[in-house]
Amino acid sequence: MTTRTELEEMFERGTQTFNRKCDLKVTRFSLVFNNVMPSQQEKLKNLCKSELHTFLENGSIISLALAYSEEEISVIDQEKKKWEFYANAYKELNQQLGILSEKIADLIQGIPLLPTIDGLVKKISHVREFFPLTISHRLIGELAGMGWRGKNNLIIHPQFSCAFRFTSVLTPLEFDYDQKLKQTCEDCIACYQVCSFLKKQTELKDYRENCRRYILHLDLGADVCGKCIKACYTMSKFKKKFDLS
Ligand code: SF4
Ligand code: SF4
Repeated sequence: MTTRTELEEMFERGTQTFNRKCDLKVTRFSLVFNNVMPSQQEKLKNLCKSELHTFLENGSIISLALAYSEEEISVIDQEKKKWEFYANAYKELNQQLGILSEKIADLIQGIPLLPTIDGLVKKISHVREFFPLTISHRLIGELAGMGWRGKNNLIIHPQFSCAFRFTSVLTPLEFDYDQKLKQTCEDCIACYQVCSFLKKQTELKDYRENCRRYILHLDLGADVCGKCIKACYTMSKFKKKFDLS
């Protein structure tokens, strides 16, 4: 039986070569299963197959996070050539998370859920088509206490802000679980100051579709914008607590 300490040691070894800040949290499989959309429940059923009952009874989901560096975040919203450095970092993080989740999955009889697939923004015609295609790493991270749900809808890590990416691994094994954070954004509105879609999200039909179109318009080397991430890290009420250096 693998313990939580052994899991964390595996994670530490697996991340050594990436030279990035990282974090690992664990939540119950059943908690996630009961909180996702029906189409995502179907995806989980297909992944777990005949083992679904074991996953529901004892299983866990491991949330794995790798952070951007301060340098990678600093180029966001600068001239396109510089902004591409962030787009490249996004691709590198996805690749590293893919390697990491497969390594961890091998060691705990797990099933890796790949990080968000790059290129989807162009392949779909509306953002609502995206959700049945993926199981939300954000929701998993939120339930596992990786961070709190920000006003920009991203997960805000107490140290990395939202300047990180994550992936998840399903496992039938039981580990000590983490708790959802109680923290909120309080009265901060730094991300609203850089993005009118976020600011007007209650008035817009679906601000995420405006965001998707803006990302298409930017036409960077990956499906990214990142302005609300930079704003959170550099301008938010919590900026002194965040540290990617
Ligand atoms: S990624 Fe860009 S467009 Fe999308 S919500 Fe953030 S700042 Fe707005
Ligand atoms: S910038 Fe402020 S309001 Fe926006 S997500 Fe970050 S902490 Fe929350």
